[in-house]
Amino acid sequence: MPTKDINDCFQHDKDRLTHFEAIEILKSNITPLKRAESVHLRKATGRVLTATITAPRPIPAHRNAAVDGYAYNDADYNPEQSTNLTVRARIKAGDPVLNQLETASAARIFTGAPMPTPLTSVAMQEDCKTEIKPDGTEIVTLPKGLKPNANCRAAGEDTQKGAPLIEAGTRLKPQHIAALAAAGIHEITTNAPIKIACLSTGDELIDKPDEFAVGKVFDSNRPMLKALTQQTTKNQANTAITDLGILKDDPKIIEQTLINAAQTHDVIITSAGASKGEEDHIINSLTKLGTRHLWQVAIKPGRPMSFGQIGDCLFIGLPGNPVAAFVCYLLYAHPLLCRLSGEPWPEPPRFSVPANFCVASKKPDRREFLRGQLVIKDGESWVEKYQKDGSGLITSLTRSNCLIELEESQTSLKQGELVNVLPFSTWGL
Ligand code: AMP
Ligand code: MG
Repeated sequence: MPTKDINDCFQHDKDRLTHFEAIEILKSNITPLKRAESVHLRKATGRVLTATITAPRPIPAHRNAAVDGYAYNDADYNPEQSTNLTVRARIKAGDPVLNQLETASAARIFTGAPMPTPLTSVAMQEDCKTEIKPDGTEIVTLPKGLKPNANCRAAGEDTQKGAPLIEAGTRLKPQHIAALAAAGIHEITTNAPIKIACLSTGDELIDKPDEFAVGKVFDSNRPMLKALTQQTTKNQANTAITDLGILKDDPKIIEQTLINAAQTHDVIITSAGASKGEEDHIINSLTKLGTRHLWQVAIKPGRPMSFGQIGDCLFIGLPGNPVAAFVCYLLYAHPLLCRLSGEPWPEPPRFSVPANFCVASKKPDRREFLRGQLVIKDGESWVEKYQKDGSGLITSLTRSNCLIELEESQTSLKQGELVNVLPFSTWGL
């Protein structure tokens, strides 16, 4: 573990943990929760699979027609010229497999219907002509030029029997629900929801409009963080988020609340009171009650971020400024919750985009996350920076769609220079 983990808010950025050192400390302290439960498919969206599910049978289960048309055997067909065959069967979706049609037979067939043996291919109805002979026999004329096995879906073409259908650690999206339903699987074992406790600290904070007075600030972090955790856990059925409200800047109240919450939750997320001022009590309380794994990261916004644990309960201490709390949630709390749920640690993808702005000077040794807007101009992607940088400006979040990342070594950015962008859509925002 880096020696810089016992950090100090008066240290220079170069002596603080870097962003990626902080990520390594988080990763090395988190293992997926062991609690699992069985859920029905209709409640499974957003859950994480505990074990890989394999296909109990091939999908599709039977060789079947991919179009409405006429089925025939490649052995009876000459691709150099049109071919006439007698239609001897009519097969629609849901019919049983028809065995052993005689040589030179065709079958009227519809999309999804099982292919009769020994027929191999289907000609689209739009390309065929039919004629009823006086004796009632139906003759189909197939077009020339069709390939072997034309318009036919092989059994197991999507998934072979026994092949992995969905890997362990996958958070189920609607497309995974489709894959499981297609395999006839309705009951699955997933992680149990994480029990998250969320609280704000600060004497200035209020919730109710009638408490408003000079000096008071409406608590925006707690509603935001509750909404963010719901987004991360994809609104899992009965996601357990306990709202512990606003705590005064009083170490006794904070400690008692943390002791109680740690006994019944997997994670506690706090905001504010995270630095070294006399009215900041989060770090001392954490150190007294448990273990501090990291504090102070050389990033902007979000420097006072902390992480630790009280007993088995993980602790995330976010900064008080709303933008800093938001950015630290995305960078550290979101992947932590994903991993705890059983997903692999998600590293947000970074896209290199030309900057439609410049940064005259940036302090070295810290990583900065500006708020920005990805835009298309004359068919090209650009990123624009929100004009103001303050870490209390919530408008910089509502009017942005990405973070712009300036690395530690960078000290300026020129107009048109490539810069890393992390779209909010990565977090479902
Ligand atoms: P602190 O980290 O306690 O020094 O707070 C830093 C700044 O964030 C102060 O301006 C606080 O008023 C503000 N702040 C702290 N918590 C919240 C919150 N829950 N909602 C909105 N602003 C907050
Ligand atoms: Mg405070």
